[in-house]
Amino acid sequence: MALDQDIFLAVASQEPEKLILHNTDTKFEKFECDFENISISLDPSGPKWHQYFMCGVKGIMDILDQSQKNQIKGLLVLVHGTVPQSAGLSSSSALVSAAALATAHAFGLSLTKEKLADLCASCERYIGTQGGGMDQAIAFLAKEGCAKLIEFEPLRSTEVKLPQGAVFVVAHSLSKMNKAATADFNCRVVECRLAAQILSKKLGLDWTKIKRLGDLQSKLNLDLDEMIALAKQHLKETTYSKDEIIRALETNAVELESISLTPNTKDIQNFKLFPRAYHVFNEAKRVAEFYKTCQNHGGGESALVTLGSLMRQSHESLRDLYECSHEQLDKIVELSKDFTLGTRLTGAGWGGCTVSLVAPDKVEDFLEHMRENFYKPMGVSDNFDMVLFKTAPQGGACIFIEKEL
Ligand code: ADP
Ligand code: MG
Repeated sequence: MALDQDIFLAVASQEPEKLILHNTDTKFEKFECDFENISISLDPSGPKWHQYFMCGVKGIMDILDQSQKNQIKGLLVLVHGTVPQSAGLSSSSALVSAAALATAHAFGLSLTKEKLADLCASCERYIGTQGGGMDQAIAFLAKEGCAKLIEFEPLRSTEVKLPQGAVFVVAHSLSKMNKAATADFNCRVVECRLAAQILSKKLGLDWTKIKRLGDLQSKLNLDLDEMIALAKQHLKETTYSKDEIIRALETNAVELESISLTPNTKDIQNFKLFPRAYHVFNEAKRVAEFYKTCQNHGGGESALVTLGSLMRQSHESLRDLYECSHEQLDKIVELSKDFTLGTRLTGAGWGGCTVSLVAPDKVEDFLEHMRENFYKPMGVSDNFDMVLFKTAPQGGACIFIEKEL
């Protein structure tokens, strides 16, 4: 679901053909470049804010034909964002998606929301993270008042009516994590890829064509329990060294690096495959279960209890099998136990936020408990709303047009 917080852009087209970016937050410096030279060069020190914007611009530029490119005008942009940054609430995708939508509009392109979401999922990867597409999908497809089940290839979304009395509370762990600045995020993507490729090889398939566990599942046409059984049968639970993987795939380091690894994961020597795959398949089962529970029950307390329990299991799996939690996230989960139906980390992890499912009559007590027992001891004494807030599903991206004065 989309949150209340957003990225808001004020955009004017202008001569000459320059992209000029300002930000209302002074920690983000003004940036300027020629439209001709939109390129995103990755620096080991981590990405710059304007490069996320340029991902969105480049995503649109990539699909323009020459005559459309000839009509390029400059863009003067002021960015104002209220999505907490590097907190697992996808401020990066909000910025990339807003940039792409504004650029498409400036060039008179009319694209479906699905096309925009797909394009933004791809072009955010220019920043160096091998992300999926959920965040960009919800940025465009979100509908006020309902959650969405998002599926891929082709991208589609189904409305999910949450049971009555479902309140979601987001809590920031006060630990930030920029996903493009470290290898952790891509390492998990690569571990899942290697798990899929080793399983493919064992089953006599062309492993070089398989990039994701989901690709393998579609190819084999198996359900999630059958995939779990395959993973148990063919993957060892302990760590694989890079050499072991090379031997199992009958390949060499150069080929492995080009087919399976990313620039920031090519020096990693040890990979865990079974726990990652086991988490992914079970998490997919929990998503299906969550959807089914919402459909079957519509409302009612028992549905809320089931959903909360799925969220709790999800966090435990993210913490123990996918290993992307953080001690402060785990602390929030612990502190939440007596007040919420379930709490899990949200977003990529390694810091950022948790989301809790809370019964309406427990919300105030939970907020108070968190202020007293988590935030105050961590030195937060006011502006609690910035780090701890109740939320409900909001609408997706839109364009406001200012009439000529
Ligand atoms: P998340 O998507 O979880 O918030 P990421 O690490 O993926 O975290 O992306 C965060 C980065 O996105 C920030 O470091 C910044 O570069 C960029 N960003 C997000 N919001 C804004 C904003 N309002 N203004 C400028 N840059 C922003
Ligand atoms: Mg992000």
